[in-house]
Amino acid sequence: MKKHVNIPIFVPHMGCPHACVFCNQRTISGHDKPDFTKVRSEIENALKSVDNEKQEAQIAFFGGSFTGIERKDMIFLLSVAKEFIDDGRVSSIRISTRPDYIDEEIIEILKKYGVKSVELGIQSCSDRVLGVCERGHDRETSVKAGRMIVDAGLELVGQMMIGLPSSSADDEKETARAIVDMGAKAARIYPTVVFCGTELARMAERGEYTPLSRDDAVERSEGAFEIFVDSGVDVIRIGLQSSEALCAGEEIACGKYCEAIGEMVISRYFEKRLTEKFDGVCGGDAVIKVNPRRVSNAAGYHAETKKKLKEKHKLKSLKIIGDAALDEFEIMIKTNV
Ligand code: SF4
Repeated sequence: MKKHVNIPIFVPHMGCPHACVFCNQRTISGHDKPDFTKVRSEIENALKSVDNEKQEAQIAFFGGSFTGIERKDMIFLLSVAKEFIDDGRVSSIRISTRPDYIDEEIIEILKKYGVKSVELGIQSCSDRVLGVCERGHDRETSVKAGRMIVDAGLELVGQMMIGLPSSSADDEKETARAIVDMGAKAARIYPTVVFCGTELARMAERGEYTPLSRDDAVERSEGAFEIFVDSGVDVIRIGLQSSEALCAGEEIACGKYCEAIGEMVISRYFEKRLTEKFDGVCGGDAVIKVNPRRVSNAAGYHAETKKKLKEKHKLKSLKIIGDAALDEFEIMIKTNV
C-alpha cells in the first residue's frame, strides 16, 4: 500500500465572519492570506519530494473554513488542485471547514473537483460550550453536516477540542461519541491552547477561564481517544502541529503548549489497559506484547508505566516486546514466565 502524504495549502481565516473565542488563525498558520497565484507552484514544489511509486499525495486545504471563502476563490483553488488529479500526480483533495458551511450544493461542488476527505471543525457537541465559545452554530448543525458528508460518500474527519470554556470531561466524551455516530472515518483531538490576542486570553485574564493543567489535558484527551479507538475511528492527530513560536511559548497567553501531548495521551491509554491486565499479579517475571509501533507507548512517557508496574506488582523483570501479529492497540501479557 502506498504511503499517504499531504500537500498542505493554508487558507487562513478567509471568508470567516466568526470570531470563536479560541481562534487566532494567523498565529496557527503563520501568514495572513495566501497568494492564489502561487498555489500551483507551491503544489509543484511540494510534489518534487513525492515519490509517486511509493507515495500517494493528497492536496489539503487547511486553516480556515474552506467552503466559506468566496465561491469563485474556492472553485479556483479546487480547479488548480484538480489539474494535478487529472495528470495523475495527486490522488485527491482534502479540505477543512465549519459545519454550517456544508450543504448539498457545496457537497456537489466538492465531489465534482475530486475532494475525498472533509475535516469538520466540530469542536464540541454541547450547545452550552458552543454558545460560550461563540461558534455561531449548534450541535444539530454539526450532526447534519457530518451525516451529509458521509452519505455523499466522502470521508469525514471530526475535529474536536478539549478543555474549552465551560466544557467538562463528560461533554468531551459525548462529543467523541457524536463524531463516531456521524460515521467519521478519522478524528483529531486538540487540547485548547490559549493564544495571545484571542478572546479566550482575555477571558483568562478576567478570571473567567482557567486552562487545563497538562495532566488534566492528557486525561481528558485520553477519554475521547479511547472512544475513537474502541469504535475503530483513526485518531490522526492529538495536539496542534508545533511551530518554533509555539514551542518557545511566544504566542501563548497562558497555560502550556506541550509538544508531546499526543504521545502522553496514547501512553496513558496503554497505562490504563495495562493496569487492568496486571490486576492481582504479584512477583515473578512478566512480558507485555504489543504492536511494534506501540512499544514505547506501552512503556509509558519516559518509561513511567513500566516503572510503576514493576514496583506496584513487585516484578523481578518486565519486558515489553513488539509483535507484528497484534493490532495497533492490542495488548497481550504473560506473567510468571
Ligand atoms: S470558524 Fe474557524 S477560522 Fe473562523 S473564527 Fe472560528 S476557528 Fe477561527
